[in-house]
Amino acid sequence: MTDLKSPSYPVIPLRDIVVFPHMVLTLFVGRKKSIAAIKHALKEESEIFLLPQKKSETESPNKEDLYHVGVVAHITQMINLPDGTVKILVEGLYRANVKELTQTKDYMDALVTPMLDKAEGEVSTALVDSLLKVFLDYADYNKKVSPDFVNLISKEKNPSKIVDLIASQLFVSVEKQQKILETQDLTERLEHLLSYLIMELDAFKLEEKVRTRVKQQMEKNHREYYLSEQIKAIQNELHQDQNSPNEMTQLKKRIEQTNFTKEAREKAEGELKKLTQMNAMSSEASIIRNYLEWLLDVPWSSPTKIKRDIKNAKKILDRDHYGLDKIKERILEHLAVQQRVGKSCGQILCLVGPPGVGKTSLGKSIAEASGRNYVRISLGGVCDEAEIRGHRRTYIGAMPGRIIQGMKRAKSSNPLFLLDEVDKLGADWRGDPTSALLEVLDPMQNNAFNDHYLEVDYDLSDVFFIATANSLNLPRPLLDRMEIIHISGYTEAEKIEIAKRHLISKQMKANGLKKNEFSISEGALRDLIRHYTNESGVRSLEREIASLARKVLKKLLTKKKTSVAITRTTLTKYLGKHKYRYGLAEKEPLVGVTTGLAWTETGGDLLTIEASVSEGKGKSVLTGKLGEVMQESIQASISYIRSRAAQFGIYPSMFMNKDIHIHVPEGATPKDGPSAGIAICTSLVSILTGIPVRSDVAMTGEITLRGRVLPIGGLKEKLLAAVRGGIKKVLIPEENKKDMEEVPISVSKALEIQFVRDIEEVLHAALVEKITPLTAEQKKKDARASLMQTQDFTLPHPPYPSGVTGSKSRTHN
Ligand code: ADP
Repeated sequence: MTDLKSPSYPVIPLRDIVVFPHMVLTLFVGRKKSIAAIKHALKEESEIFLLPQKKSETESPNKEDLYHVGVVAHITQMINLPDGTVKILVEGLYRANVKELTQTKDYMDALVTPMLDKAEGEVSTALVDSLLKVFLDYADYNKKVSPDFVNLISKEKNPSKIVDLIASQLFVSVEKQQKILETQDLTERLEHLLSYLIMELDAFKLEEKVRTRVKQQMEKNHREYYLSEQIKAIQNELHQDQNSPNEMTQLKKRIEQTNFTKEAREKAEGELKKLTQMNAMSSEASIIRNYLEWLLDVPWSSPTKIKRDIKNAKKILDRDHYGLDKIKERILEHLAVQQRVGKSCGQILCLVGPPGVGKTSLGKSIAEASGRNYVRISLGGVCDEAEIRGHRRTYIGAMPGRIIQGMKRAKSSNPLFLLDEVDKLGADWRGDPTSALLEVLDPMQNNAFNDHYLEVDYDLSDVFFIATANSLNLPRPLLDRMEIIHISGYTEAEKIEIAKRHLISKQMKANGLKKNEFSISEGALRDLIRHYTNESGVRSLEREIASLARKVLKKLLTKKKTSVAITRTTLTKYLGKHKYRYGLAEKEPLVGVTTGLAWTETGGDLLTIEASVSEGKGKSVLTGKLGEVMQESIQASISYIRSRAAQFGIYPSMFMNKDIHIHVPEGATPKDGPSAGIAICTSLVSILTGIPVRSDVAMTGEITLRGRVLPIGGLKEKLLAAVRGGIKKVLIPEENKKDMEEVPISVSKALEIQFVRDIEEVLHAALVEKITPLTAEQKKKDARASLMQTQDFTLPHPPYPSGVTGSKSRTHN
């Protein structure tokens, strides 16, 4: 120590650190000059001068490389480390300014001037407090500040010491620390420190904020990542289940085993390949899977063995159906031809008849008789081509059409395919299903039927198609493809036989009744047919028998009986009041009321034609929802009667001063066609002459303008309806005589049938009195009266009951 004011100390140049007074710290020293300086100081028991160098990379700094202000420090301990370096514990004593630096042989020596704090007494406590406060805040953020240090500093009173100690904890650059060290004015130093501290604190806070946000984001990302990984794992599991090699091999195996056409096989293999490369969860995969299922489920060249024994076929048909001899004969002929010709004999059978005559069940029996699987589709209400031919796969929820769906159900490639209700096929803006059906039924085309969904051609040429319809109201091209077999309604006797032989046993079985537990007398059956059904077929009859069977079963179970026999007297107890009135409603002949015979899709029916006249101007009014042809037929009748008025005993003036009203009641029955002509004519003559019409006579026939009676269709159905309606006598056109051979003998026996050629014969048979033509005197009087516009005439006959109250033969109760 040469001079108290300017002592000299060995220098240790400091890299990356500034040591403040009061600071105690360990330094590792490696540079030779520095070690020499330490050794010298220890030897001389001198302090040491710690002087930061400007750039840390300078290995052996000169005067210019060092700052001018450093700290004089005391070495409290020195340890020689094995690698030749030295560890010292030093305590900063005071700051000092370099006055002179001299390079000795081994180290650098500095002549320094201690720097005393300026304005020490003037430092505001508020400033110190705020420094402390900020520091405590800072210490919260900076984990490198030890709690011991915080403790120490909060107890410290000396502002200079506080500032230096806090400065030693500041993690700022060497320049900034050096700046604090060099600032002699305490307040200024404190302010510098405070500003650095605040900056640091802000940086920490910002960092913290960023860190929290980053952490949150990371957590969110992590969570999403984790979840998406989970989903992937689950999907993989499912993938393995669905598109599992197992499923693929199974599909592959099924494709190999299926007797596909070449085209279908290529398609199936192609689709399977696509499926293998797809994510099992994707919607396309499920579409392909669905498609493949369809392709595999449709029968490909897998026929059942066709039975060729016609005798046996006859047995089966006879076993299942009573009567229908001619129909069975036609069917057997068809089967025989089919057997000879091989595949398909070109024509499609079409069974036409009213509901419940056994068309569908015949289809089933034919299937059994010919050894084919049976499948039925109903075409009623189908008005979209796609229903027959399917939707393309691009449609959502696309499916094959009904034909292919039917083939899937059939499970063989040569089933009997029943197309029910072809006459109910519709057509609208969605396309005409008829054309698709034509393709199905055309033997030239149906070996390559193209379903939009299936995409590949399907061979329908082995399929035995049978159609059913209630009427022949079919598109012409379809009709041309078909061999029509008419099945008309049953007579009462036939119905009784069918019930006895088939329906009762069938319903007993269906309703769990054992043999001998249930019986029904013939009388009761007849009553059942007459009063609870009104139909050509036996559908309602079967329903009523089923209802009886259920009721009987209930009785057996509740009343502990062993058997129940239904008789005429007990029938009403089970089935309640009669549903239909059998026989003629009106027993009395009425004026203007004639019974016609109509043909509808559901069979034959009685039709009442009512006429009335009122004061007026010769107009005619037609009511009862009449079809165009029937309206024309009425007009024709009026014209005819008008032209022959006098001959029929009618005053011609009536056509000028009376209005004629024709009404055909029973709104539900479709009323069209010309066959009510003679009935209309009879009603008109009756009302205009006042002669009543016989109520037990029914008639059918078209009329020409010259009064001739023309033939009609549906004769058998009409006659059956007449028998059901309790009619005694029917008038039918002479030309229909030839159709009588179709009519069962029981029917022709039950009725008095009169063939008529012209209207005069009709009137003669139907009216209760003979018509007297007008006398010359009466004609003259009428002509005079109409000239004078005086309607001074009376009806030529005494008043009979008027026809306007007439009603149908059967009415619903
Ligand atoms: P459709 O198809 O003509 O409307 P269904 O075939 O449905 O008539 O026949 C109705 C019921 O009547 C069926 O149970 C059927 O077995 C029976 N049936 C119809 N005709 C006969 C018949 N001739 N012999 C025996 N059962 C018959």
